[in-house]
Amino acid sequence: MLNSKFLPRALLALALLAGSSAWAQQTKIHWYGQAALKIETPAGGVILVDPWLKVPTNPDKDSIAKLDRVDYILITHGHWDHIGDAVEIGKKTGAILVAPYGLQFNMKSVLGYPEKQATLATGGNVGGTFNLEKAGAKVTVVNAVHGSELVPPMHKPKHEGDAAALASGNPVGYLIQVNNGPVIYHTGDTDVHNDMRLISQFYKVDVMFAAIGGHFTMDPVRAALAVEWVNPKQVVPIHFGTYPILAGSPAQFKAALDERGLGARMVEMKPGETRGF
Ligand SMILES: [Zn+2]
Repeated sequence: MLNSKFLPRALLALALLAGSSAWAQQTKIHWYGQAALKIETPAGGVILVDPWLKVPTNPDKDSIAKLDRVDYILITHGHWDHIGDAVEIGKKTGAILVAPYGLQFNMKSVLGYPEKQATLATGGNVGGTFNLEKAGAKVTVVNAVHGSELVPPMHKPKHEGDAAALASGNPVGYLIQVNNGPVIYHTGDTDVHNDMRLISQFYKVDVMFAAIGGHFTMDPVRAALAVEWVNPKQVVPIHFGTYPILAGSPAQFKAALDERGLGARMVEMKPGETRGF
């Protein structure tokens, strides 16, 4: 029998236990800044997307050192703010590289990503779905409207005067389907485009991570139309504020979503924040 004196404390402990097990069952998504996400699945897997962990807006300067297990690294396109620290992290953790074929090839041959961790099993193209077995998830590659060049100094030319941008396949977005968890759509860098209408034909997106900074991608107004077409339950704005040129703001995005009756779907995260989904 519980002594009544201890009952409130026992109930509190039970509530905390229930709360922590609910947290354990959730998929935890950490935003480092720019387009960089860490997704921890209920199966215990870890997936990074566009891991530029040294992004200046990331408050934690030891993020790479703190990474222990990483099962997969997904890269949306070849620009340096998306490849980021992928090669360093891949070598440190043994993570498998998921990328469009041409980019995966160049990341091995030009940037030195370990060959055995970057095979055709996870290097395909738009329309393909890859099993991310170790993380308890699948990923489908979807279209993005952008560029995907490796640009010096990210790739070091062999000869003086040889410093051309290197074509690296098509830019993409990813639909990550977590077992017993959410369907996550990372738009990559893109404008709003008609193919986004296809996404809701195949998937019920729980959370969309949408570029809103403008200049290189959708701005808040164009991203609000993307949300209407994709129809996610929640949307988190990313790819803004890292530099002044990425001027789109969450406040502008909220206002544009409100005009479409979708404002309640926006979840604002800060760089360095983790949320359960
Ligand atoms: Zn970018």
